[in-house]
Amino acid sequence: MNKLTINDLDLRGKRVFIRVDFNVPLKDGVITDDTRVRETLPTLRLAIQKGGRLVLASHLGRPKGGPDPKYSLAPVAKKLQELLERTVGFANDCVGADAEAKSKALGEGGVLLLENVRFHPEEEKNDEAFSKQLAALCDNVFVCDAFGSAHRAHASVVGITRFVKQAAAGLLMEKELAYLGKAVTNPARPFAAILGGAKVSDKIEVVENLMKIADTMLIGGGMAYTFEKAQGLPIGKSLVENDKIDLAKRLLVDAKVKDFKFLLPADHVIAPELKPDAKATICDVSATPADQMGLDIGPKTIAAYAAEIAKAKTIVWNGPMGVFEMPAFAKGTLEIAKAVAAATTAGATSIVGGGDSVAAVHQSGVANKISHISTGGGASLEFLAGRKLPGVEALTNKS
Ligand code: AMP
Repeated sequence: MNKLTINDLDLRGKRVFIRVDFNVPLKDGVITDDTRVRETLPTLRLAIQKGGRLVLASHLGRPKGGPDPKYSLAPVAKKLQELLERTVGFANDCVGADAEAKSKALGEGGVLLLENVRFHPEEEKNDEAFSKQLAALCDNVFVCDAFGSAHRAHASVVGITRFVKQAAAGLLMEKELAYLGKAVTNPARPFAAILGGAKVSDKIEVVENLMKIADTMLIGGGMAYTFEKAQGLPIGKSLVENDKIDLAKRLLVDAKVKDFKFLLPADHVIAPELKPDAKATICDVSATPADQMGLDIGPKTIAAYAAEIAKAKTIVWNGPMGVFEMPAFAKGTLEIAKAVAAATTAGATSIVGGGDSVAAVHQSGVANKISHISTGGGASLEFLAGRKLPGVEALTNKS
């Protein structure tokens, strides 16, 4: 990477502003999954070891542009204190007198977490004056470890970099970029891309870009039906984006011309309605009745996809193969998770991104077998679509 990383920084005695992604799920003020907090620990420990005075900032949820106790980071400060095994201070606003005084009072290795940056609408507007106020809380040095926010040009991710001397990637950011970067620039082959989820429109640029890079594309989930319809297959009441049929046709022709292996489900699990107790049956995609909808990939498709996955040396997966939230339609996604894990054990590099696919590898009990579970679903999709991430672009180039 041609950007500064935390390893390049001299932090002794300096207040370092670290943008983390502590956007954790909360239920009644209790953190239900602390993965995102744990993932930043190596960066925080390194900054402490380097003698920095740590000022941490994050967003949490989507408060409507003002303070809202429901989205307070206070419970995260407690959790972080427990995980770091050291005192973590908390400022009740991310800018202003309290944050300034507490940041100045930090000793070497001290840690302060600021309140949710999204309590200020200026955060999402990448406002200059607000960015400057954030930067005033550090001694000219900024570290971004919030990969999950790197696709957003917000003040605490991008704006602040204009008001510091050094803006560097944290260890988590570096790791995310290393895995994704290798997959798109220098992948071990064959490279299988697995894409699923509800909509083609969300992932169309990823499909287009990965068709230039990968060797095989395995499509599942609701997005498959727009392609099936484009091929003239009956799709019944399945999810479809009619305004994307022409685009799907063009991609299918493209794949044919380039001799690109573009696989679509051959069979699927269908039901008359999207309900957990709906009567589920299996049929070939060519035999879908008009009054049924496809809600998961079928056994022939699982076998065909698993065979492709087993051959792969690089695997990128984003999006479920069906409505995996309902047990009747979860098998396809869980079996794909197992196939990706098995291929990884056999030597492939696997990268799984997106909340649902990440949940599926956990649900299948194979998360520890995956090479890299991305902490940023949206950011990893933007990266795979070939777009530059503003939060990475804004970091200081290595001289
Ligand atoms: P996305 O956010 O685009 O990755 O989509 C994830 C959602 O797609 C999940 O909530 C799944 O339940 C849903 N999904 C997957 N397959 C289907 C399908 N065949 N029909 C309807 N929804 C689906």
